[in-house]
Amino acid sequence: MIKGYQEEVLKIYDKLRTIEEKTLEDRRKEIENKLPQVIEIEKNIAKLSLDLSINIIRKREDIDEYISSIKEKITDLRMKKSELLVASGYPLDYLEMHYNCPKCKDTGFIGSIKCECYKKNLIKVLYKNSEINYILERDNFSNFSFQHFSPYKNGNEPESPRKNMEKIASISWSFIENFTSTHENLLFFGESGTGKSFLANCIAKELLDRGYMVIYKTAVDLIKDLKSVRFDSQEDLEDLLINCDLLIIDDLGTEPLTEFSKMELFNLLNSKLLKRKKMIISTNFTIETLLKNYSERISSRLLGNFTLCKFYGEDIRVRINMNKKK
Ligand SMILES: [Zn+2]
Repeated sequence: MIKGYQEEVLKIYDKLRTIEEKTLEDRRKEIENKLPQVIEIEKNIAKLSLDLSINIIRKREDIDEYISSIKEKITDLRMKKSELLVASGYPLDYLEMHYNCPKCKDTGFIGSIKCECYKKNLIKVLYKNSEINYILERDNFSNFSFQHFSPYKNGNEPESPRKNMEKIASISWSFIENFTSTHENLLFFGESGTGKSFLANCIAKELLDRGYMVIYKTAVDLIKDLKSVRFDSQEDLEDLLINCDLLIIDDLGTEPLTEFSKMELFNLLNSKLLKRKKMIISTNFTIETLLKNYSERISSRLLGNFTLCKFYGEDIRVRINMNKKK
């Protein structure tokens, strides 16, 4: 699924450069019309640079003198070019490439090392391939309302679903506000339709807007990813899953519960906890079912390192639809 994502990232860079090359061409044409002297100067500079390199290769006798005289000429020409551009109201770099990322010149690499901007583009690719973009348009705090949760206490729970949700929302906000300083992780558990994924997505949106690197994965997709990390050596993907600021694992328990998946899940949880990289996990399982389905190693990490938030109440999706019909 993720295979070939590096090529997709490189395509983004190709596109950025092609667009910029075209705009640069347009800018050159404009200057050719309005300030042909500037283009003449550029041609002279190019010619002098070529002469310079030819003579360096030929090792002519007075080479040092020759180099400094040519360099001086080039500097003069560059000054003249700048003066002409500025006098006509153009910025100095009008005839240079304008890169989105000057560090790597929109290649994604500085030498053989990945540039900072590479990760951002990788996330773009991963998001494009997931549903998160669409989900976040719908699931965000501006669409969040306590009205969807019943104000009446029901069954054995100590509080009404609305009161409970107010508490969880307040935990979530403090998680967001203290995101850089907190070591907290959140475990949202409870029956389906009680707002777990919705709230997790709201938090994701809020943190993405604040510039954090958030990765959203359903448990099923996460296990697929961990498989390709293990068997196709997708190191970038592993790095991303471990080192992203927040990893959301939605619907834990829907993945195939094999020895492989449990072991890889444990390794991931462990690496993230050691690196203090935060997680939100949502699951329809009760705590008892979690304990029963996962090894003691996994459940002790979930119970020991996550703030447990129990969701309950009627299915809010049904409730929202009923309200619409009213
Ligand atoms: Zn870069």
